[in-house]
Amino acid sequence: MTLETQRVVVVGAGQAGIALCAKLRNLGHTGPITLIGVEPAPPYQRPPLSKAYALGEMDAERLYLRPEEFYEQHKIDLRVSTRVTEIDRAARSIETDNGDTIGYDSLVLATGAPPRRLPAAIGGDLDGVLCIRTLEDADRFAGYLGSAKNVLIVGGGYIGLEAAAVAAKKGLKVTLIEAAPRILGRVACAETADYIRHLHTSHGVDIREGTGLERLTGTDGKVSHATLGNGDVIEADFVVVGIGVTPETMLAETSGITLDNGIAVDELSRTSDPSISAIGDCASFPYRGDRIRLESVGNAIAQAEATAAAIMGNETPYVAKPWFWSDQYDVKLQIAGLGTGHDLIVERATDEKVKSFWYFRGDKLVAIDAMNAPRDYMMAKRWIENGQSPRPDDIRDPDAVLKSLAVTANGSSGSA
Ligand code: FAD
Repeated sequence: MTLETQRVVVVGAGQAGIALCAKLRNLGHTGPITLIGVEPAPPYQRPPLSKAYALGEMDAERLYLRPEEFYEQHKIDLRVSTRVTEIDRAARSIETDNGDTIGYDSLVLATGAPPRRLPAAIGGDLDGVLCIRTLEDADRFAGYLGSAKNVLIVGGGYIGLEAAAVAAKKGLKVTLIEAAPRILGRVACAETADYIRHLHTSHGVDIREGTGLERLTGTDGKVSHATLGNGDVIEADFVVVGIGVTPETMLAETSGITLDNGIAVDELSRTSDPSISAIGDCASFPYRGDRIRLESVGNAIAQAEATAAAIMGNETPYVAKPWFWSDQYDVKLQIAGLGTGHDLIVERATDEKVKSFWYFRGDKLVAIDAMNAPRDYMMAKRWIENGQSPRPDDIRDPDAVLKSLAVTANGSSGSA
């Protein structure tokens, strides 16, 4: 067996799983590749499920990451509607729920991070209560959008806010509750939250922050009302729950692989068992002296491709370059870097709608949130990835040409 001919088995036919398989073939891997996914559909993109697809502006066909013939052409044995139930590390094989045993030389866990659900004890199991993760969920969401009048969104993170934007655009009465003091508390600065809050309230969304959910009630098993933490009762024909995700670690856990906020991997995406890797939403990895887990398409693809290269013998450590986007109404929000630990936010605004917020830690640029400001985003992303920082005061001036600004690199003076 050579690296090119080793047997690769990938658990999880999502964004990261298919990116890894495609990259392996691209790098000249000729051995058997098996891609196993529990969902009935071949790998598809999730971001449009709470954006264009939900609005009816994108067909299901366009969600698929590869055309049907791709799998046969590239000899990727795609097994849908199949759950991997067990890893036998000693025998180097996995078991599936239809009784198959498949041997591997290299096993990749790309199992994602399913959404947290509301407990049944507070009505989380009532009909009409949904999360948006799968194509099936998105079709249910679209169905309610066509028939309901009132929707309650639980959670003011990106998915909840995107669902609120879609429902408001469709003419529904939308109430969004967030238990924390403000929306986007975990992922963005207060200034970005203010911008997004204003965007939603100007479209009629009723945003209630610092307000938890007491319980959901209904008749004949179907949700109809929500009692909020402050005692308010509101009507809800359906409820969208966007309260975060939990990395899917069951297989790793039951086979004794180390966990740490997901499946813990090293710079080469190897778990505590070197013949098993983990990638995408389910994996936590080293990043600038820390350990992080990212839930984004950009990370799923980049980590998958770096892992494919490592499986083929090119052991270049994976260095994450975090980026993300969100579409709400006519606003495209683009994010680069990680804002954690920032101590300064600098605003650069052309007008009320075109704005960016730049996150600094000391004099180091660490992240940007750009709203309808793609040039700011592109420049900041490049600087962050190159470890360069402009002076905060230079950024404030919307007439300053970003490309011409002096930047410092790694703490010393330099120019762009
Ligand atoms: P997934 O794509 O979730 O794939 C994991 C797959 O593994 C799943 O299909 C799961 O069923 C399967 N699986 C799990 N366990 C097993 C098992 N035992 N056997 C077989 N199969 C198994 N990211 C952005 O960057 N920008 C966005 O705007 C954005 N919007 C989003 C909107 C929505 C509604 C959602 C849900 C996500 C969004 N994301 C966005 C996040 C992005 O989609 C994820 O980060 C990305 O899909 C992660 O890829 P993954 O392969 O790690 O996991």
